[in-house]
Parts: sequence; C-alpha cells; structure tokens
Amino acid sequence: MSWSPDKFGFDTRAVHAGQSPDPSTGAVITPIVLSTTFEHSSPGQHQGFDYSRCGNPTRAVYEECIANLEGARFGFANASGTVGVTTIMHLLQSGDHVVAGDDMYAGMYRLFEQIFKKNGISFSYVDLSDSKLLEAAMRPETRMVWIETPTNPLMKMVDIRELADISHAHGALLAVDNTFMSPYFQQPLALGADLVMHSSTKYINGHSDLIGGVLITDNEELAERLTFLANAVGGIQSAFDAYLCLRSLKTLGIRMRAHDSNARTLAAHLETHPAVERVMYPGLTSHPQHDLALKQMSGMGGMISIFLKGGLPAVNSMLKSVKVFTLAESLGGVESLISHPPTMTHLSLPEDVRLSLGITDNLVRLSVGIENVEDIIDDLDRALDAH
Ligand SMILES: *Cc1c(COP(=O)(O)O)cnc(C)c1O
Repeated sequence: MSWSPDKFGFDTRAVHAGQSPDPSTGAVITPIVLSTTFEHSSPGQHQGFDYSRCGNPTRAVYEECIANLEGARFGFANASGTVGVTTIMHLLQSGDHVVAGDDMYAGMYRLFEQIFKKNGISFSYVDLSDSKLLEAAMRPETRMVWIETPTNPLMKMVDIRELADISHAHGALLAVDNTFMSPYFQQPLALGADLVMHSSTKYINGHSDLIGGVLITDNEELAERLTFLANAVGGIQSAFDAYLCLRSLKTLGIRMRAHDSNARTLAAHLETHPAVERVMYPGLTSHPQHDLALKQMSGMGGMISIFLKGGLPAVNSMLKSVKVFTLAESLGGVESLISHPPTMTHLSLPEDVRLSLGITDNLVRLSVGIENVEDIIDDLDRALDAH
C-alpha cells in the first residue's frame, strides 16, 4: 500500500508512510537494524543494503516517511541539522555565490563564514523579507538561495513562492530551513523550493533527546547528488536516532497543534502585558507580515520572541523566576523553554552584526511547549512581575 499524499491525510501518513510489518517477524513497529554490514549472495548481489553509511533499513523507512510528509520522494537523514547544511554546501564549488537571509540560525552564519568561505564560496546576507532585495543581490555566479522562515529569533518571514521564482529565473536553487514550522504547518517544496532542510533536533523529534537533521527534495537530479554526498561526506544519522525520529513523527501533527494553540493564547496574553514592549509572533495581527503567514503557513507554530521593557535587568529577573519554562537553548520539544538569544544562541555573532539585525539585549525567545496553557501563562506572569 502506498501512503500517497493525495489519498491520505497528514496524520495518517505520519503514522504509516513507508512502514509495513516486518516480513521476517510480523513486528508492527519498524525494527532498529544496528548491523553495519549486509550479506551479499554473490559479489554485488544483496537485498538493497550493503553498508550502513550508504543505506540502512531503519533510516530508509524514516527517510521515506519524512519525505512523504513534505510531499516529496527523497529524504536524507543526517547526524545533525548542521551536517545536513554542510552536505548541501558541498553541492557548490569554489567561485559559487550564495544569497542567504540576514536573520538566521547563528550556527549557519558561522558555518558559512568560517568554513565555506575558506573553500572559495562567497555569501551575501540580505533582508529577504523584501523579495525585491533578492533580485538585486543575484549575481551570474549565484547558485543557491538559502532561507529560513520564520527567522530565528526575530520571526521575520520571506515569501517562499516569490523567492523561488526569482531564484529559478537566475538558475539558482532555493533551499529552505523549515525547522520552525515542520512540514505540518509549512511545505516549501509545494511553494516552489527545491530543497528543504530540518534540524530534526527540534519539532521533528520533539522530545529534546537527540541531535539530528534531514534533507528533502522531489528533484531526481538533486536526489542523486545528495545520495552521492550522503555517502561521500558521511554525515548520516544513526539507526537508533532514525528510529526515534520515525517514532516521533507519529505524533508530529498532534504536537504541532498543541504548540500552536498554546503559543497563540500566550502571544495574545503577552501583547497586553504592561512589562512587555513588543511581541513577535506570526499569528498576531500586529505582526508586520501576518498576511504572508496566513498565505504560506497553515498554522503559526510554537515560537514567540518578546522585547521586554526595562532592558537587561528585567530580562535577568524574568529568566531567574520561571518554573514551568526552563532557561535553555534549543526549541521544539514538548517542554517549554526560554532563552536569551544575545547571550546564548546568538553569542557567536559579532556584536555589531547582532545589534544591526535588531537582536537587542531585551530580547527573550520562547519555545512554547505542550503543558497546560494556564500554567504556561501563570509562570510568565509571575516571572514578569518578579522585579
Ligand atoms: C537548531 C537549528 C539548526 C542547527 O541544527 P543542529 O541539529 O543543532 O545541528 C539549524 N537551523 C535552525 C533553524 C535551528 O533551529
């Protein structure tokens, strides 16, 4: 039975796509195959697997399921989101140029500037929330446009369809980091993107207990090159972690609905709180790009950024006073996390770059979990009143 996107809904495919009872035992749940090597009946003759870097039965099932959820045929599971992007960058060669969004996961900025620049690839960082600025940034040697939407931590959005059209008109690929939305709320390939990347460390796995990444495309030529690179670069995900991701996908829909519902309620509440200067959440009508959010996302997700009145002292007393929220990096787990991007996730950015982006000292980022929303709201109210 094929779990095709047109026949079955998202939640059904999340539970079943790529999966069938194990033919040797009847086990309903996909087994974790730890073997690194597979028997050949004669040299070169085997059952589809020969060595687990090239392909592993557990990983292959997960890759099929996540690809299906993004509406595509080809998935590549990685040991981290970062090595997924490293693999993508090996599609390029010395002399090539990349246009990237200016507000993005700080580790990507570090990877581009400190690793791939040395390999002769050049990067321009552009505020792509204005699509016209992409047109102006394209060069004859531009081979890829790299975007996140919404961005981390400022929750800016870019118009995926418009950027796909501009990228393709210039012969460049559009790659989208879809970590914040997951395929449940946003499907960039359907909007014209060529390649989707996730840090599965976040919503895909959803339980803050593994580091992983995944790449998805429906383009056969690109898939062939990524198959080669997965093997040649070797940034593949372990069978055990692929199993955990496969298991987590089964609840992706219900988790995302809970994150989204809690975050909507919390964002609306925080917007009325006297200690809060500004709330950045795509679901609020006050968000400058709320219309774009409605156009290209089917939900608003669980990430909220807030600017506090009272600067750093107010931030510090809030961060010290939370109980339901945990002060920690990362996002997308079932538990609520709070972080301070200027001193935590975005510390590796040069200070002038950080400030020019608007990542000021009074910025706090919330990853809203699936706890009871009253407890989440009470916790922040108490923490905001603490100073
Ligand atoms: C966490 C994250 C990454 C990096 O992924 P790792 O799994 O930590 O290597 C990339 N992009 C976004 C948006 C992230 O949140």
